[in-house]
Amino acid sequence: MPDANDSSIADNLRRVRDRIADAAIRAGRRPEEVTLVAVSKTKPEEAAGKFPALREAFPTLRLHVVGGLQTNKARDAVRLADVIETLDRPRLADAIEAAIAREGRAPTLLVEVNTGAEPQKSGVARGDADRFIEECRARFGTALAGLMCVPPMGEDPAPHFAWLADRATRHGLGVLSMGMSADFETAIACGATHVRVGSAIFGAR
Ligand SMILES: *Cc1c(COP(=O)(O)O)cnc(C)c1O
Repeated sequence: MPDANDSSIADNLRRVRDRIADAAIRAGRRPEEVTLVAVSKTKPEEAAGKFPALREAFPTLRLHVVGGLQTNKARDAVRLADVIETLDRPRLADAIEAAIAREGRAPTLLVEVNTGAEPQKSGVARGDADRFIEECRARFGTALAGLMCVPPMGEDPAPHFAWLADRATRHGLGVLSMGMSADFETAIACGATHVRVGSAIFGAR
């Protein structure tokens, strides 16, 4: 497993970027079509403390919320995040809508689909996805930009990625967040526009 000191993180990051570019080219795509989202499992309180200063130092930095979001954290997420990738239920949509009105800013939103129907995971069920996506589009307009999924561990992720890509196409949504350290190359072959990579950059937790 990669180490986690700063220079090895920089090396890991370079390697991951190279692999992303290679995978894009193999898929007949341009490397710029794929955005790397570097995932550290930071606690929300830490993000709230650190991110404003980081954003000032690195103005192009974008903060994505990729972990399951509790309704009572929606306001913090709307205030801090550029992208919320885990919109997955009507009550959370209510809370995000209210927070957008109060904060006067709207992050980009992705609907998370629980493609493997895993009870412990967040995400709307496949069978409810079309209706939920339509509801979110009606509420949030173009802030609703795409879809996200985390396929079950130990299963071939390709059919999950293909399903999500098909859903995004049907709904005219351009952002597809799929693929992690173990499977981002497969995800890129299936059309991922964003890959979320943690351990291959920061080391095993
Ligand atoms: C942890 C996490 C990742 C990154 O996973 P790695 O396997 O460490 O790359 C991506 N997406 C989500 C939702 C995660 O929780």
